[in-house]
Amino acid sequence: MHLDMSTISIVAIAITAILGLVLIFNWARQGGASFVGMWGVAMLLISVGIVMANVSRGGLPGALVLGQAVMILGAGVKWRACREFSQRDSSLLYIFVGPVILLLAAGTGLVETFNDRLMLVCVLTAAYNFAAATELAYDHGEQLPSRWLAILLLALTSASFLSWLPLIVIRPIPELGTVFYSSWFPIVILITLLLRTALAFVVLAMAKERQEQEQRVDALTDSLTGLPNRRALFEVADAVAQRRILGGTPVSVLILDLDHFKDTNDSYGHSLGDEVLKVFAMTAEKNLKVNSIVGRLGGEEFAAILPGVEAAAAVEAAERVRRAFSRSAAFVNGLAVGATVSVGVATDTEVDADLSNLFRRADAALYIAKRAGRNQVAFLESDEDMVVAAQCTAIRTSPSRLRPAVAAVRPDRARSA
Ligand code: GH3
Ligand code: MG
Ligand code: MG
Repeated sequence: MHLDMSTISIVAIAITAILGLVLIFNWARQGGASFVGMWGVAMLLISVGIVMANVSRGGLPGALVLGQAVMILGAGVKWRACREFSQRDSSLLYIFVGPVILLLAAGTGLVETFNDRLMLVCVLTAAYNFAAATELAYDHGEQLPSRWLAILLLALTSASFLSWLPLIVIRPIPELGTVFYSSWFPIVILITLLLRTALAFVVLAMAKERQEQEQRVDALTDSLTGLPNRRALFEVADAVAQRRILGGTPVSVLILDLDHFKDTNDSYGHSLGDEVLKVFAMTAEKNLKVNSIVGRLGGEEFAAILPGVEAAAAVEAAERVRRAFSRSAAFVNGLAVGATVSVGVATDTEVDADLSNLFRRADAALYIAKRAGRNQVAFLESDEDMVVAAQCTAIRTSPSRLRPAVAAVRPDRARSA
C-alpha cells in the first residue's frame, strides 16, 4: 500500500481543524461544557503545528521546531481539558512545560538531529496523553460509560507515540524532507489521526452524557432543600418494594408535616419560611440513618422511607427528628420561630407489591398526630387501625410521645406499639 505523505498531511490538517471548530462551536452554544471548548482549542493548535511543520519543508527549519512545540502544547491543552472535566483546578503553566522543554533542548543543542528531536516530541506528547487518561480515571461518582472509552483512546494515543521510539531507532528519518519517503511515518500519522478523530467524538459524547445526567438529577431534586423530590421518592419506594419482594424485610414510612407553617410564613415572611424548610431538611437528613431516604413531597410536607426498619425503631427515628427539629428551629436567623413538626409512622412487615398502602397509613397517622395537638409522633399499626382512626372525629387526649395514635384509637394496642 502506498500512502502519499503530502495528501495525508493535508487531510490531517483539515480534519483536525474541522474537529477543533466543531468542538468550539459546541462549547460556544449556550450550555456547552468548557472542557469541550478546550479540547477544540487543542485540536486547532495541533493542526496549526502540523501546518508549521509542513511549511518548514519550504526552507524554514525554525518553523519545524516551533510547529512541534505547538503540537505538544495542543497535547498539554488536552490534558488541561481533562482536568477541567474532573473539576480539578491547576495552573495553566503546566501546559507550557512540554513545549518549553522541547524549545530549550533544541536551543541548547541537546537534541540536535531530527530523530533526537522527534523522540523528545513523542515522549512529551505521550506523557501529556497519559496524564490526560489518568485524569479521567479519577472517580467522581459519575456513571459516564463514554469516559472509559476516552481513557482507552488516550492510553492508546500515548502508547502509539511511544511505539514511534523503536521505529526511529530501527529506521531513522534523517530529516523532515525524507519523512516523505519513510516506510512507517505515514502509517503512524494515520493512526494518530484516527485516534484523534475518535477522541473528539467521545469528548462530545462525554459532555452529552454528563448533561443528561445533570438534567436527570435536577428532575429528581427539590431545588429549595436539595432533597429528593416527590418523583424521586416514589422511584425509591418502587425500588424498595421490588427488593422486599425478593428479601421480605420490613419497611417503614414517615410522613412529616411542619406545624402551623402558614402562620410561620404570615408572621416572619415567605423567605424565612424557606429557611425553616431548609433547616428541617438538614435536621431530618442528619437524624435519619444512612440507608433511609428523606424527600420533600411538596410544600411543607416531607416523607422518609426506612428500608429494613421495624416499627419501634421507626417511631424512635421519627421522635429523634421531631425533637431535633424543635431544637434547631427554635431560632432561625436570630428570630424565635419555634417551628415544630408532626410525624405519622407506619410499618409493613408483609411483602407488598408497592408502598402506596403504607404511605396512606402513615398519612392517616399524621392526621392523628395533628389532631392530637401537633409536635408529636403518631403510629398506626395496621390498616384496621386506619379505619378506626378515620372514624375518630376528635382526639382530645394528648397521648404519650411514642405511641399517641394507637393510644388514641386503640388503647389495647398501645402497650405493644
Ligand atoms: P398544619 O399544622 O395543619 O399542617 O398547618 P399548616 O399551616 O402547616 O398547613 P397549611 O396546609 O394550612 O399551610 C401550609 C403552608 O405552607 C401554606 C403555604 O404557603 C406554605 N408553603 C408551601 N410551600 C412553601 C414554600 O416552598 N416556602 C414557604 N415559605 N412556604 C410554603
Ligand atoms: Mg403543615
Ligand atoms: Mg401540609
